[in-house]
Formats: sequence, C-alpha cells, structure tokens
Amino acid sequence: MPSGESILPGPYIQLATALGGAILAATWLSLILWTARDVRARSDDRLAQILAVTAVALLTIPGLFLYLLLRPSRTLEEEYQASLEEEALIATLAGRLTCPGCGRQVEQDWRICPACSTVLRKACTDCGRMLDLTWNVCPYCGTATAAMETESAADA
Ligand SMILES: [Zn+2]
Ligand SMILES: [Zn+2]
Repeated sequence: MPSGESILPGPYIQLATALGGAILAATWLSLILWTARDVRARSDDRLAQILAVTAVALLTIPGLFLYLLLRPSRTLEEEYQASLEEEALIATLAGRLTCPGCGRQVEQDWRICPACSTVLRKACTDCGRMLDLTWNVCPYCGTATAAMETESAADA
C-alpha cells in the first residue's frame, strides 16, 4: 500500500482535482453554449455557426477570442433596426412621412399606424385637426392640447 494512506492530502488532492475538472468542464460547456447562442443571433449562416462553435470547443479560450474578433459586429436584430432607420432616413429626405415604430410610409393625416398601431398624431380637442404629438397648442385654433401630457406625466 502507498505510504500516502496515513497522510491526509491524498484524498484531498483527488477531490480538488475532481472539483477542478468539473468546474473546467462546466466552464467549457458554458463557453460553447454561449458561443452557439451568440452566433445564432448574429448570423444565419450554418457554416459560420458550426465553425464558431467548433473553434471554441477545440481551442477553448483562444478560440473564444478568435470568435470575438471575427464575429459580425451587429446582431441580426440590430441589423434589422439599422435598416429600418436607414429606410426612414431615406424616406424623410425624399419628403415622405414614416412611422417611428415600423418605418413604413404613412400619410400626413393618419392618426395611428395601420401596421403597428403606433400613435402618430393626436386630434385637436376643439377643431379636430391632426396635430404633431409634440405640439402643446393647436396651431389652427389655439386650443391647448393636454391629451398627451397626461401620458408623459404618468411616465415621469
Ligand atoms: Zn408603424
Ligand atoms: Zn384646433
């Protein structure tokens, strides 16, 4: 029998090794899972997804650094938002009105966006004409418009 039986550290070292191994394995798995989720949010490309996960699985931390360097800077959601903003900007430059919620073209006198239900304008309580949401006074009849103020006061 090894002489280590009488000395305590033997089992402790085994326990520490097992614990360390478990922690390392858990970290490794979470790295892979995180990469898989992150790459799916950033790319639709199957090959890119598989490559990213494989790189992290094989190379672990260096693989992760490599992935962080090479991954697309914007998620697909951010990409979509940016394209909406671009469309809205182009439409504004062309003199057209767009919905701030979905970026679709809307008409001057529309009150609510038919596509996403975003409130576009408010009606004057007195003369009923369509007013910009930021206007406090109706420019047509001079009536103060408080309709939207109650909402913003509730927010604040
Ligand atoms: Zn809309
Ligand atoms: Zn008015």
